Amino acid sequence: QGSSESKILQTIINQASIALENARLFRETSQREQFFAALGRVSQAINATFDLPTVLDLICRESMAIFQVDGVYIWQRRGLDLEATAAQGHGKDAFVGTVIRASETRVFAAAVVNHGQSIFLNNLNQVSSVNVRLPDRKSIQAVLGVPLQREGSPIGVMVLIDRRNPRRFREQDVELATAFGVQAAIAIQNAQLVTELRELNEQLDERVIERTQALGEERDRIQLLLKITTELSASLDETYVLNRALELINEVARAPRGGILLADPDSDFMIYRAAFGLGRPLPPEGFKLTLRKGDGLSGWIMRHRAPVLIHDTQHDPRWVSRPTSDDHRSVLAVPLVSGNDVIGALMLFHPQPHAFTRRQLELVEAAAYQVSNAIYNAQLYVLIRDQTERLGKMLREEQIEAAKNQAILESIVDGVLVADSANIITLANSATSHILDLPRAELEGKSMVDVLGRYASFSKAWLAAIAGLPSHPSQAAQSPAGDVAVTALSDRFTIENRHISMTLSPVLASGQFFGTVSIFRDITQAVEVDRMKSDFVSTVSHELRTPMTSIKGYADLMLMGVAGPLAAAQARYLQVIKNNADRLSMLVNDLLDISRFETGKTELDLRALDMSQLIEQVVRGHLQGRIQHEKKLIHVSTEYSPSLPLVQGDHARVTQILNNLLDNAFNYTPQEGSIAVRARAGGKFVYVSVADSGIGISPENQERIFERFFRAEDAAVQTVAGTGLGLSIVRSLVEMHGGSLSLESELNKGSTFTFSLPVVDGEV
Ligand code: ADP
Repeated sequence: QGSSESKILQTIINQASIALENARLFRETSQREQFFAALGRVSQAINATFDLPTVLDLICRESMAIFQVDGVYIWQRRGLDLEATAAQGHGKDAFVGTVIRASETRVFAAAVVNHGQSIFLNNLNQVSSVNVRLPDRKSIQAVLGVPLQREGSPIGVMVLIDRRNPRRFREQDVELATAFGVQAAIAIQNAQLVTELRELNEQLDERVIERTQALGEERDRIQLLLKITTELSASLDETYVLNRALELINEVARAPRGGILLADPDSDFMIYRAAFGLGRPLPPEGFKLTLRKGDGLSGWIMRHRAPVLIHDTQHDPRWVSRPTSDDHRSVLAVPLVSGNDVIGALMLFHPQPHAFTRRQLELVEAAAYQVSNAIYNAQLYVLIRDQTERLGKMLREEQIEAAKNQAILESIVDGVLVADSANIITLANSATSHILDLPRAELEGKSMVDVLGRYASFSKAWLAAIAGLPSHPSQAAQSPAGDVAVTALSDRFTIENRHISMTLSPVLASGQFFGTVSIFRDITQAVEVDRMKSDFVSTVSHELRTPMTSIKGYADLMLMGVAGPLAAAQARYLQVIKNNADRLSMLVNDLLDISRFETGKTELDLRALDMSQLIEQVVRGHLQGRIQHEKKLIHVSTEYSPSLPLVQGDHARVTQILNNLLDNAFNYTPQEGSIAVRARAGGKFVYVSVADSGIGISPENQERIFERFFRAEDAAVQTVAGTGLGLSIVRSLVEMHGGSLSLESELNKGSTFTFSLPVVDGEV
């Protein structure tokens, strides 16, 4: 029985213990169920938001509720430190913001992080060495630390505390807290990532806004500069350019007053070339200031070539206050630089201090560069326009001049032909083409020698002379002066039945040979008239000679008393008749001589002559005879170089030459003058000179005295009986002998006529 009772008891006990075990199991299971339900709620809630502070707050609150603790604390990793970022319950406000340094490894939270697993410590008041770094440490009885990790690396730590139960935590709590910690870590990291992303986004937005603004400003700046450049380069009117530049620049600075000051090139002062806000318009040429170039703020800017931003003129020594400008408080001014020169300053004024910014200054400075360029261009344009106008005027005048010259040249009856230094014809007027009977195209651009070579009658010697002209300008300069002293050459030639005279003159300037100018003249008519005149003279002279001879003869006879004795008056009258008859026959003889020369009817009877002998004869016979007869005091001398060769000449003609020259010397030399006759040998010629100390011949008459009938208008000449034919005859005779006649004379000093005669062959 006892055993059955004990059996029953045993059974009851067994039943009871099973029931108790069941009850414990049931309680534990329901606790777990409760925990996981809460955990589910927590993870749902904390994953519903990505706002980190909200997430941290939620983690703290929910863990307080789930674990029934007095406080929950979270540290987050910042680098190697741990920063207290969230808490709930006991002392939460004092906790947030504290830091555990990386070196403080012994602090509980740091130890949990390092350990990597949840740790709890009970009976904390008995282990005073544990440092939990939490507010009011003494009141804390137990702690549970849970590391917060992601993919094996720590992101923080969560610590739970209990202040009443020193044996609060058990292994079971560790398991649950670790599970919770995993969820919390995920939520924190997600929120952190989202926050970071959001921050990054915000930062990016900010950067974008900043950049957009900067780009906008840059665009405005460039647009303004572009506008200034395009607008200013579209005009070259300086006044317009300057005023428009000011307007555009002021779109940036928005000053109520401003202007462009330029240094006046004509004075020592500055000049307002453009301005606004002055209350009155500027005159177009600008407004002259009494401000000197180096003075005041503009002077400072130009000297330093630097811009100026004055925030308050009352505190800037560079500002010189003037009655017209003392209400300017802010000034923005930049120099205008063109090339190397500072030409002026652009200045903006504001009545308020601090009205302008550095940005505005920079922009105005950049714009000023364009303005300087525009001013430079405008000034250059004016310069070029003036120069173009001047050149245009010169060109027009030159064209008129050229046309005038052309017209003059064309209207000349004579042919004018210009050749360059290489003898190429560069110009021929229409008269030339007419006279030479060649179209102009056959003249211009052709060689002189080729053109003139076409005419059979054109002298070959001449062609050689023309061809031999220095063909290079430098050649003329190099050759000795004598070689190029080509004076004008004259000649005649015929083209068919026409007579053409030609004169060729070299164009020389300062020793340089530039070419030749030739004049052609059709002298056919003159030659014809000449011939007719000669014929007439010859006929008339012949007809006159016969009656002259009888007049002279009978006068002589009567004077000799052949027709009976003469009364004194009769003799005088007869003498007058005889003298005039002599003069007449002299004239007739001269005329006959000349017409004979011209018609080529004179023939010379050439023999070897001894000049000294001949001269002595003429001087003693003819000259001395006249001296005695006319009772004129003249000193006569002769002089011969030794061993004078014989010359080839016609005795009568050479005597005539000498007579004529001695007559002139006698006629045109006053009382007590002298006449010297000299003869000397020179190469193939003997030179005979007749020198007198008489009235002389003026330079302008020296060529003309060889003309027929020419007599100087001098009274001393007119009183002497003469025909003006003598020298012309002498020249013809000398040239017929193959010699030449030359003259040297000075008015009132005397004249020397020299002729040459060829030496007899074999004499030299
Ligand atoms: P004519 O003696 O008959 O006048 P000529 O032909 O001989 O004519 O001279 C021309 C002119 O030259 C003269 O009228 C004279 O004016 C000038 N003449 C010539 N020989 C001399 C001289 N020896 N001195 C000054 N004048 C002279």
